[in-house]
Amino acid sequence: GATIGILGGGQLGRMLSVAAARLGFRTHIFEPGANPPAGDVAHAVTTARYEDETALQAFAASVDVITYEFENIPTQALDLLEAHRPIRPGREALRISQDRLTEKTFLRDLGLQTAPFADITDLASLEAAIAEIGTPAILKTRRFGYDGKGQARLQAPADAEMALADMAGAPAILEGFVDFSHEVSIIAARGLDGQVACFDPGENVHESGILRTTTVPAQLTSAQKTDAVLLAANILNRLDYVGVMGVELFVTPQGLIVNEIAPRVHNSGHWTQNGCTVDQFEQHIRAVAGWPLGDGQRYADVVMENLIGDDMDRVPDLARERDVALHLYGKSEVKQGRKMGHVNRITRAT
Ligand code: ATP
Ligand code: MG
Ligand code: MG
Repeated sequence: GATIGILGGGQLGRMLSVAAARLGFRTHIFEPGANPPAGDVAHAVTTARYEDETALQAFAASVDVITYEFENIPTQALDLLEAHRPIRPGREALRISQDRLTEKTFLRDLGLQTAPFADITDLASLEAAIAEIGTPAILKTRRFGYDGKGQARLQAPADAEMALADMAGAPAILEGFVDFSHEVSIIAARGLDGQVACFDPGENVHESGILRTTTVPAQLTSAQKTDAVLLAANILNRLDYVGVMGVELFVTPQGLIVNEIAPRVHNSGHWTQNGCTVDQFEQHIRAVAGWPLGDGQRYADVVMENLIGDDMDRVPDLARERDVALHLYGKSEVKQGRKMGHVNRITRAT
């Protein structure tokens, strides 16, 4: 069978590896950190830095296609890997989603609604942006932010200096605060042949910047659902995308506003593991392997809840509950704010 190379060995890489194994593939994980969660279930693991060209070359030579579970892979490593094997999803999706300024500009140029935004390089540009966008607003680092890290909220223009200090000199963007009623995301897939399929949108609740729950079905009118599918397909087509993408949306009376895109399987798509015949992980593996996309139609209502840090203490009780599917990542060290696993609670079979 073929071998799929995965850059990144976290829980997403782990669940991708499980899905790949079910289809008869082997996976080879490339991960700088020791004892990656994906290591337990993958066929092979390379522990090396992205600067290690020899390791990258050997990794590429051992796989048929390369995919990834996180978007912050250094450009030079990608250049080297791409010279040997196809990288799916492609480089353009990575380039755009690695930088919030590039990402928001791309989305706006596609004709989609985003929060008002401005490039921030210093206090003068921040003050000019506040004059334009107003407050409340959020200052975000352009790169490397996740789980709400690298963000500072501004309630009033006087917060400018404090917020800028939080960025520690990193390039940033200012975003106007979107007055949304709720947050949803749509997990979309595109095959090598251009076929597009979307999972049902999920409704997301965050706590301290971290995803807490995803609920399907989301509270959306059928018109809003159609909008979500169309805008996701639009994004994937424009990027000639191959694989699964998560698109985060704010629901407002003025329509759906795109918050950010993730060129990979997404935490808000974990419900698909127990709500669909083919889940997001298998869908991604199918796409990058050049297979036809699978049946992602939802057959149950699901509430996905992340198990973060000490939530792990609830596992013995959860294990006794009916209609609960446990998904644990095998991480040995419990840390505050660390995603340790998730549960899918099936609320109704339809
Ligand atoms: P993720 O872990 O999803 O990658 P992130 O660190 O990239 O998160 P965002 O998704 O940009 O951060 O923001 C985290 C959360 O903060 C959003 O889900 C939303 O609840 C809130 N938020 C972000 N930007 C805005 C905005 N412009 N207006 C209102 N709320 C926002
Ligand atoms: Mg993000
Ligand atoms: Mg987000």
